[in-house]
Amino acid sequence: MASSPAQTEFYQAVEEVLESLEPLLAQSPQYQKNHIIERMVEPERQIMFRVPWVDDQGEVRINKGYRIEFNSALGPYKGGLRFHPSVNAGIIKFLGFEQIFKNALTGLQIGGGKGGSNFDPKGRSDQEIMRFCQSFMTELYRHIGPTTDVPAGDIGVGAREIGYMFGQYKRLTGRYDGVLTGKGLLWGGSLVRKEATGYGCVYFAQNMLESAGSSLAGKTCLVSGAGNVAIYTIEKLYQLGAKPVTATDSSGTLFDAKGIDLALLKELKELKRVSLQHYLEKHHHAEFTPINEYPEDGHAVWRYQADAAFPCATQNELTESDAKALIANNCRCISEGANMPSTPEAVEIFLENKIHYGPGKAANAGGVATSQLEMSQNASMQQLSFEQVESRLKEIMHDIHQRCSKTATEFGQPHNLVLGANIAGFRRVADAMIEQGVV
Ligand code: NDP
Repeated sequence: MASSPAQTEFYQAVEEVLESLEPLLAQSPQYQKNHIIERMVEPERQIMFRVPWVDDQGEVRINKGYRIEFNSALGPYKGGLRFHPSVNAGIIKFLGFEQIFKNALTGLQIGGGKGGSNFDPKGRSDQEIMRFCQSFMTELYRHIGPTTDVPAGDIGVGAREIGYMFGQYKRLTGRYDGVLTGKGLLWGGSLVRKEATGYGCVYFAQNMLESAGSSLAGKTCLVSGAGNVAIYTIEKLYQLGAKPVTATDSSGTLFDAKGIDLALLKELKELKRVSLQHYLEKHHHAEFTPINEYPEDGHAVWRYQADAAFPCATQNELTESDAKALIANNCRCISEGANMPSTPEAVEIFLENKIHYGPGKAANAGGVATSQLEMSQNASMQQLSFEQVESRLKEIMHDIHQRCSKTATEFGQPHNLVLGANIAGFRRVADAMIEQGVV
């Protein structure tokens, strides 16, 4: 495949999947005969649009908007919207591609999509965020629908942004549809959606450890990120008796040997939206390493001693030398809350050392699975209790682990959940595509 610098992450994601598929393709000629790979790497549709808005000083600003509708073999396109200055067509394409396999692994009827903008919400007032979200939806609304394409949140898009976009969708269409997930609880949201990706990622780690007769109880854990996924990963780790000692954000890494103060973390990140550095004002014993003091070839967070690690911030945030440091410190379990947080070299090291490694497309699928539960509650106009949704989430994560693990065993590499996840996800989508003909 010809490479293009603008699509680096997309090629990285495709290469990983294609490498895993080699043993399957060697024994299943129907996939090559039907040109499934060529069809699967080409999105069904990509939409790019202008997002004009006016800042608080009255200046006109222009951002780029994206929605990629990658594959609908298993159901309506489903995947989040990311607002971050690093967003470009290649990033959205990699995220959309990963989403196809992740959604297939949940066993639910959801296809793969993704979207976002290079808009930077940092430092913007509520009014600016609202005007941006309204402008974004003014184009997006014509492409989405409750049975066609249902976006959710991702980096920079939480309940506030989903609220502003839903309001604008309703105003433009006059419809009260379940067209977005991650909605507020007062207007169609599902209990546990906010917690689902983080909780699911911890359940996945627990499943990996239990399959080897161990558990998370008493384990020291490293977590990166300080957003939606990281916060609820930390919450569930505490609930299962583990001790999370780190969090990170775009300014640096926080280490608290006594265990991260979760209430303070939520206050700093969910309410005040400030740097993790402020944590030290209350806890003088904690350490903060600013990003300019990170090791040249990696990240401070992965250099602490721990039993398990949960990368929950962003792509390629765990490098080869970070992976070596984790292994040298005897870390035996990695469960990815973020999408593609480990570089290919780091993944190679995890696989070579046969540690418990849960790739993002399996370990962080709890969020999208719970989004599907939100869609089904909206469609039936019913609301499930917190306990009902959480127990369903736990079951789904258990099933995803089983699917990956059984498939890895079927192909003679029982510890390799990357291979298991890619083959299990691919088979479900590919078989559906063949049955639906050349479309
Ligand atoms: P949030 O925006 O809530 O949090 C992201 C966190 O990561 C923030 O603490 C942010 O720092 C930090 N961060 C983001 N980009 C960078 C960067 N380039 N360098 C350093 N730190 C960075 O996002 P989410 O928690 O929702 O998403 C985190 C990851 O999980 C992403 O990979 C996302 O795709 C994935 N994911 C999310 C799902 C969800 O349900 N939300 C579902 C499945 C996967 P700061 O606070 O300074 O902005």
